[in-house]
Amino acid sequence: MIRLEHINKNYVSGTKTVVALDDINLQIQAGEVFGIIGRSGAGKSTLIRMLNLLERPSSGRVWLQDQDISTLAEPQLRQVRQKIGMVFQHFNLLQMRTVLDNVCFPLRLAGLTRAQQKARALEVLELVGLQDHVHKYPRQLSGGQQQRVGIARALANHPQLLLCDEATSALDPETTQSILRLLAQINQDLGLTIVLITHSMDVIRRICDRVAVIDAGKLVEQGEVLDVFLHP
Ligand code: ADP
Ligand code: ADP
Repeated sequence: MIRLEHINKNYVSGTKTVVALDDINLQIQAGEVFGIIGRSGAGKSTLIRMLNLLERPSSGRVWLQDQDISTLAEPQLRQVRQKIGMVFQHFNLLQMRTVLDNVCFPLRLAGLTRAQQKARALEVLELVGLQDHVHKYPRQLSGGQQQRVGIARALANHPQLLLCDEATSALDPETTQSILRLLAQINQDLGLTIVLITHSMDVIRRICDRVAVIDAGKLVEQGEVLDVFLHP
């Protein structure tokens, strides 16, 4: 589904160069839940942003379904990104917009008519269990409900790949479990490939098929969760 080949990413600030990613090679299969775990500063956010090219690698290639997307110009990339949903730690919802309008937003960017936007938005809002809250504003919802809006928005364009950037890190343990159950259900029912980054071993154990461990910009281990984390 997606393949990273010899990815390097350096950040230059002033006279200092930070090596955020150091020769990353990674292959993610269609239909799996793939976890990337590491400490703060290890390079997780940089790595997940390589997958939709929110950041460009300093060198190396990113293949999405046998297409090298690392060389695409911005307009083509925008089209590719419509097939990749993203969920954020702090939800990133528009506070002045209703739940429905938040989910319509990417659909409007994709050029759907208002009627098409609404129909699609209601469909994904029902999928995440928010059909009774569509006219509320984000501040009227709990953290878990807000993240469900974030997930619905990410699913609105019917993506093939869902990227989750610390999607449960701002949530309490119980809410975390319900969001993880929702992601697992989406993976099963829609066959959607999910890549998530987390600093939590528990998140990895609960929903991931395979995992990669990143430390100081290097992948230090990857494989089946049971092999990498034998005996909890
Ligand atoms: P993680 O998500 O695992 O916490 P990051 O990918 O955010 O790690 O960061 C990896 C390294 O790159 C860190 O040393 C961080 O300080 C550095 N870094 C990340 N983004 C930038 C940036 N925009 N400019 C300079 N350094 C950055
Ligand atoms: P339309 O939805 O008719 O295409 P706009 O995109 O301009 O029109 O937005 C409709 C309303 O939403 C306007 O009142 C505008 O001020 C407001 N709005 C636009 N963008 C944002 C935003 N990022 N956050 C909050 N409100 C916004």
